[in-house]
Amino acid sequence: MKENIKSLWIKRPIIISGPCSAETEDQLIQTAERLAATGKIDMLRAGIWKPRTKPGMFEGIGTNGLKWLLQAKKNTGLPITVEVATAKHVEEALKYEVDVLWIGARTTVNPFSVQEVADALRGVDIPVMVKNPLNADLELWVGAMERLQKVGIENVGMIHRGFSSYGNTEFRNAPMWHLPIEMKRRYPDMPLICDPSHICGNRTLLQQVSQKSIDLDFSGLMIESHIDPDNAWSDAKQQITPEALKEMLDALAWRSELISEQQFITALAHLREQINQVDDELLTLIGQRMKLADKIGNYKKENNITILQTNRWNEILNSAFAKGELLGLSKEFIMRYFDAVHLESINHQNKIMNE
Ligand code: PEP
Ligand code: MN
Repeated sequence: MKENIKSLWIKRPIIISGPCSAETEDQLIQTAERLAATGKIDMLRAGIWKPRTKPGMFEGIGTNGLKWLLQAKKNTGLPITVEVATAKHVEEALKYEVDVLWIGARTTVNPFSVQEVADALRGVDIPVMVKNPLNADLELWVGAMERLQKVGIENVGMIHRGFSSYGNTEFRNAPMWHLPIEMKRRYPDMPLICDPSHICGNRTLLQQVSQKSIDLDFSGLMIESHIDPDNAWSDAKQQITPEALKEMLDALAWRSELISEQQFITALAHLREQINQVDDELLTLIGQRMKLADKIGNYKKENNITILQTNRWNEILNSAFAKGELLGLSKEFIMRYFDAVHLESINHQNKIMNE
């Protein structure tokens, strides 16, 4: 590995930026030069081949874009990185002196593709960053990294870009912070870069997501930047100008706690994320419980039975006390919890019986 890349690999924070896609020579060179002018960027990115959801969308400019990117590297002195998904992409990228490769989220999910890329890299000394797979499956992420390590890639990095989730959330891809935190626990010495652009899918949340990753002791950021974001050929909503990026980076609080303190914060965050997850599951379950209460309400209504059936309630409480004792939950807590649940349940049934 070249000396400049070796030192970059361990630099903290490492900031990668560039357009989602290379579009024209002018767009790419201008973006690169304006990014370099901020003095805040360590590496240029650009999508050359774009894995798009539907055919007919802009699928990347291809090899010409690599020529422009190499020119941008020469003009700015910044190393360059692109996404590769096939052996052919690897071959082309290496031909045009790309310094670091990355595997995209849509590729990480597919072991055939990851293996093809890995095989093309056998004997090549180049760092490769692996984006998390689209779905929340850590083993698939780990598997992709292992395929690269097995062919001799010594410098593997991770990029957290969030996970697909069905339905509307405020994010394009849910961050599920507990997952990258777990990866950091497993690979404490590997760079872990946050890609807030693909997590957010918009400009408004970029700053807060970037800050969160810094607070969680990530190694750096990959953020998409474009000279004319609104007219970008892909991911227009989430890109920002190089100058807006500089402003955002300046506004972030870069913490520099002692290592032990950082480890403490990371461990705390890990536990908190797990608690959030459990709380979320608990609420979902309580919601399901109330749906059952609604069904019972309907049944009672049809059969003219009273809502409160004291025997049934005593039964529930007594078995909960016994279980609570095994789980280390006080009788008092069980009482309060069941009172609240019972009341909510009765309200649900009341509503149904009086509809
Ligand atoms: C990208 O970085 O432009 C990209 C396609 O990202 P992802 O693989 O995370 O969707
Ligand atoms: Mn993109």
